[in-house]
Amino acid sequence: MRRLHLAACLLLALPMVASAQGRGGTTSDVVTLLVPARVWDGSVDKKGVADKPHEGWAVLIRGERITAVGPRDQLNIPDGATTVELPGTTIIPGLIEGHSHLLLHPYNETSWDDQVLREPEALRTARAVNHAKATLLAGFTTMRDLGTEGAGYADVGLKAAINQGIISGPRLIVTTRAIVGLGEYGPRGFSTDISDEIPQGAEEVSGPESIGRVVRDQIKHGADWIKVYADYRWGPSGEVRPGFTQDELKLIVDIANSSGRPVVAHASSEEGMRRAILAGVRSIEHGDNGTPAVWKLMKEKGVYFCPTVAAGESQLEQRGGYKMGELLPPSLKAKQITTKAALDAGVKICNGSDVGVFSHGDNAKELELLVLYGLTPSQALLAATVTDAAMLGMEDRIGSIKPGLLADLIAVTGDPTQDITALRKVQLVMKGGIRYR
Ligand SMILES: [Zn+2]
Repeated sequence: MRRLHLAACLLLALPMVASAQGRGGTTSDVVTLLVPARVWDGSVDKKGVADKPHEGWAVLIRGERITAVGPRDQLNIPDGATTVELPGTTIIPGLIEGHSHLLLHPYNETSWDDQVLREPEALRTARAVNHAKATLLAGFTTMRDLGTEGAGYADVGLKAAINQGIISGPRLIVTTRAIVGLGEYGPRGFSTDISDEIPQGAEEVSGPESIGRVVRDQIKHGADWIKVYADYRWGPSGEVRPGFTQDELKLIVDIANSSGRPVVAHASSEEGMRRAILAGVRSIEHGDNGTPAVWKLMKEKGVYFCPTVAAGESQLEQRGGYKMGELLPPSLKAKQITTKAALDAGVKICNGSDVGVFSHGDNAKELELLVLYGLTPSQALLAATVTDAAMLGMEDRIGSIKPGLLADLIAVTGDPTQDITALRKVQLVMKGGIRYR
């Protein structure tokens, strides 16, 4: 049995990626034993409470898959296996980011309007290559990207580049341009002489004919999910109002579902959320003004909820009005209350941060905030693993540590079920059996 120390693994990581993939995937017979201090595998009891981490467990990997997990001395380790000692660490499933914008960067660097209108798609894609790598190295091995915000179908190309091993990044689930009602979104505020010509941050539709065409067109261009803005700030005084009638939303969902694709809705108003739920969306994003009636309906229909708490927090921070850990200002206090209300109502809480609004690679911020807002560290970890995997319909491949699943694993120093900030101390990242860190 060959033994490698962690430091050596770190040095070897990237060349190994390049050579393994450059030869067209020769990792199929490579057997690796990961030996941390403990393993948190994402198992839950009948009440949905996560098991504690298992001290003294190890994980055996062959090729791209997990073949065994359990007490180290009980594992049947084949000759020729490489042992990687990871003292002091906890191995957990690779984290899942449920709501990202790879093609955006923080608005205090460049405003959203300027990113959409002044940054060429090639520039935005070049940035996104760095964003994807930073995300993976931060321990996020799968990511649902919810709209290119004016960068066309660049997410489809990025996904292909990652899958072909040209660049490093998480497994991507993409939505392409996303869908808004005509006049609902932005950039806006231009002279009426030119406002028809201003490129928008998502694809506009109006009525059944254009809905049918655009949903099918986005699918044709590579959308894995369809994203719709069920509401936005387009009321007479700029207030959030639903962007679609119930029938229009239903049509979007019917066409997408007919193709086997789920729909995700941006919605923060009570009525926008209600229409999206009744239309049959799989997940709702933001949900700032959810009510007891809405949470009840979400639970009944099994709709997932990404509260995206990091987005609002980050924007306040960027404006200099708040620092994480300070007493919560009113807007964040309200968000804390709604997030906890959804949790207490039994709604399935996902991990989705809206990263892009803040720096890529800083994704763990959402988990830290979920804990600050009332989830236990284990509940936050479940959101970013088991729950997100189920939301994506990928629980048979990712999200927990079981034989047969893909070897998407990370090792962090410390125990994240005791202290969620351990997620910032990533020592090893493995995606599909290949070590990237
Ligand atoms: Zn978003």
